[in-house]
Amino acid sequence: MRMPKASKNLLAALPSVDEVLRSQHGQGWLARYPRRFVLQGIRDEIAHLRECVKTGTVEPSAPEDTAAAMEARISRLSSPSLRPVINATGIVLHTNLGRAPLSESALEAVVRVSRGYSNLEYALEEGKRGKRYTHARRLIKELASAEDATLFNNNAGAVLIALSALARGREVIVSRGELVEIGGSFRIPEVMAQSGAILREVGATNKTHLRDYENAIGPETALLLKVHRSNYRITGFSAEVSVESLVKLGAEKGIPVMFDLGSGCLFDLKKAGIGDEPVVNEIVRSGVDLVTFSGDKLLGGPQAGIIAGKTALIEKINRHPLARALRIDKMTLAALEATLFDCADIEKAPEKIPALRMLLEPAEKIRGRARAIAKKAGAGAQVVEDLSEAGGGSLPGVLLPTWCVAVKGHKSPNSLEQLLRKGDPPVIARIKEGTLLLDARTIMDGDVEPLARRLKEIL
Ligand SMILES: *Cc1c(COP(=O)(O)O)cnc(C)c1O
Repeated sequence: MRMPKASKNLLAALPSVDEVLRSQHGQGWLARYPRRFVLQGIRDEIAHLRECVKTGTVEPSAPEDTAAAMEARISRLSSPSLRPVINATGIVLHTNLGRAPLSESALEAVVRVSRGYSNLEYALEEGKRGKRYTHARRLIKELASAEDATLFNNNAGAVLIALSALARGREVIVSRGELVEIGGSFRIPEVMAQSGAILREVGATNKTHLRDYENAIGPETALLLKVHRSNYRITGFSAEVSVESLVKLGAEKGIPVMFDLGSGCLFDLKKAGIGDEPVVNEIVRSGVDLVTFSGDKLLGGPQAGIIAGKTALIEKINRHPLARALRIDKMTLAALEATLFDCADIEKAPEKIPALRMLLEPAEKIRGRARAIAKKAGAGAQVVEDLSEAGGGSLPGVLLPTWCVAVKGHKSPNSLEQLLRKGDPPVIARIKEGTLLLDARTIMDGDVEPLARRLKEIL
């Protein structure tokens, strides 16, 4: 294919990588960015321009524009992919946005413990090898009113290892109404299969009675399992067996009872009028042998899987080979122990733990933040009432009264949403009934200024 003469001239006019490197811009970039990304950014932009000339899709651009485009590429290549975003969805425990934001003390603990060495697996008193899960154990035992406790990488892992250690090759009885799927890949039947335990479903989807469990118990029964429904509710003509009845049955038959609580609420949100999430220590006190829950749901800490309950069972779990594969790392452990200290005076926990604070924040306070953002953003931003969700498999069906900034510009809600999402800092919003909404519940105080600035830019 022959190219027209004008295109040939344009191609010839494109700078070489060497020319750009030697230029003032190039020298400046080399001082600020890693050389490999400077080279790659320049090459990519030149290739892009060449492609544009060939296809005739752009006019020749000014050298300053080319330099700016190159620097944008270099800067992107030199930036981490994982970065902070502003969560304006109102979903407090948003699994895709990293669930719980950490408390100040958790952040400090991570830095303190990770900057140098630590006694992660070293018993300072005895001067010999120790166990990593001992660190947060005292606090979990205390706060969960449990005999013993252990920790893993996340709750899916905690459930997997517990089933593997206690029920491999034997039967686990679960109600059909509790065979849940949580997020993409955690499904109770599949985790059960993975663990080698045999699932014994009882009852119907909407109703399970104590006699269903009772009739299913046999010589192969290793465990009675109760699972928190987490992300959905069964209403209407329904019945489930209470923890107390299950505990009584388990005790009579000599079979342990495990409750996968999922969200792991230490702070009683019921008392604050929010949902009916079971509180960890109440469940443990009711006599359940083991509970499992996440560190980054209603506990408001880092991703972790916590198991609390009877010592004999916990010891069996800790001895299982999966314990090594699922072990918790030191940064998580530091953050988790600090979060648990934040819960030591449980009434004060919401002052320290961001997720709890956001869930409990009075609507009037949220309204104040929405107003501050709208005022700074200027025309096109309006404060409206709406509802937010807890998210992250917690408080299913609970809607919390909230206030949002409704954004209306000349552009469509979809293009506004895109502009915010792809900007710096990225802002994740939601569209409801054709309006772009920024829910002030999950907007951190430090986000108010940058968010208002972004809104002003796009409006
Ligand atoms: C969330 C949840 C899990 C999985 O916990 P992760 O910490 O996300 O691995 C397991 N079981 C229940 C009931 C849950 O709600």
